[in-house]
Amino acid sequence: MRVSLSQEGEDIIFQLETEEADLEHLSSSKIGLSGTTAKINLGGIKIDDIHPDLIGLSTILMCHQFVGNELHLPVLVSEEFLERANSILSKYKICSESNPEIAANSPIGTRPGLAFSGGADSTAALSVMPGNTVPVFMNRPIREGSMYDSDAPIKKIGYDVRVIDCDLEYLREPVGFPSDLAHAIPLILLSESMGIGSIAFGTILESAYGIGHEHYIDYQNGSHMRFYGTLLSAAGLEISLPVGGVSEVGTAIIVGSSPLGELAQSCIRGKKGLPCMRCWKCFRKELLSLALSPGKDIDLLSMMRNSSEVQIKLSAYPISHENVVTYSIQRIDIGEYPFLRALRNRLDTKLELSLLDCWYSPSKILIPERYRMHVMEKISKFMKRMSKEQESVLENWNMDDYLLSEEAKKGHSQLTTYWQDL
Ligand SMILES: [Zn+2]
Repeated sequence: MRVSLSQEGEDIIFQLETEEADLEHLSSSKIGLSGTTAKINLGGIKIDDIHPDLIGLSTILMCHQFVGNELHLPVLVSEEFLERANSILSKYKICSESNPEIAANSPIGTRPGLAFSGGADSTAALSVMPGNTVPVFMNRPIREGSMYDSDAPIKKIGYDVRVIDCDLEYLREPVGFPSDLAHAIPLILLSESMGIGSIAFGTILESAYGIGHEHYIDYQNGSHMRFYGTLLSAAGLEISLPVGGVSEVGTAIIVGSSPLGELAQSCIRGKKGLPCMRCWKCFRKELLSLALSPGKDIDLLSMMRNSSEVQIKLSAYPISHENVVTYSIQRIDIGEYPFLRALRNRLDTKLELSLLDCWYSPSKILIPERYRMHVMEKISKFMKRMSKEQESVLENWNMDDYLLSEEAKKGHSQLTTYWQDL
């Protein structure tokens, strides 16, 4: 893959050119490359004003899934960046040159930046981060036939927020981010000019530590953290996961009592303030809010009846975020909502899940030291720390036995035939 860079007005344009090995790689990959250019409007910042290591890092995050065995960066980077990035890249290598005259990027600024999506998780992250945090929202331009309606949800929230138009999600087929941290690319490119020294993400406990999936993941010592942490640090930036120890239940609690709460909307199908009430995120969120605020008027029955997406997600084995679904069902009076019985019978309701409204304190290592205390204090205003017993529930999380049990299989087959009776 060869990448070049050009400027058109305020837009910075990445141009991707595939080579034989990339096409070979893509032919056996689940995702495709549907475009060859990505435009990012950085509001007048010129290519020459951006440290080449930040451009190098952005190029890697953009092309990561598309590269066969060689990646040629659009600029000469520092020797240190090239060496450290190549030390962690295993499926392909960066084959372009470095320039010994370029000093590695080492930001003077110390402001925290946050890759902000407007959903509950990144709103919760913003709520516990320092007030000088710069949330950067990537605004995807609407294209015809798109199922999303982004409606630039944030303008005035009392933060130094940046809304950056960027179409890089269209590079990928199906449309989406081409790597886990690609939504931080605008923030990374802006970091130098805004004095930003660390890049935060709204990654939560479920995604980091695997709870709700089949097995616990030792995230802070795991390969994901090592890979992305090394890449960011090669470009002089610290990675930060302020809510890595907070579950989806915890972020709902934070967002529910934070002044930023109104802002949060995880549903990307509906319009601002009007979630679609048909998608899986809407269903999970409403189910949880019924558990957290019993008696709330929510029409879950029609969501289950009318949304094939909800039916498909609930028919998955395991269900995505099964821990949160179970936590919710345990706290809902099934007598009042008898249509949830089939779902309840599918879940391991004997699980002790009180840990989900507590904070997993070993995750503090995922927060830069500079503002770690601040985040810990803020989180402690919303929730308790997990006890040792609760930590061990997390650290021993393993759904295998339950998923293999007759009880779960029977519940699954009853639930998946239930849709016809609804
Ligand atoms: Zn929705």
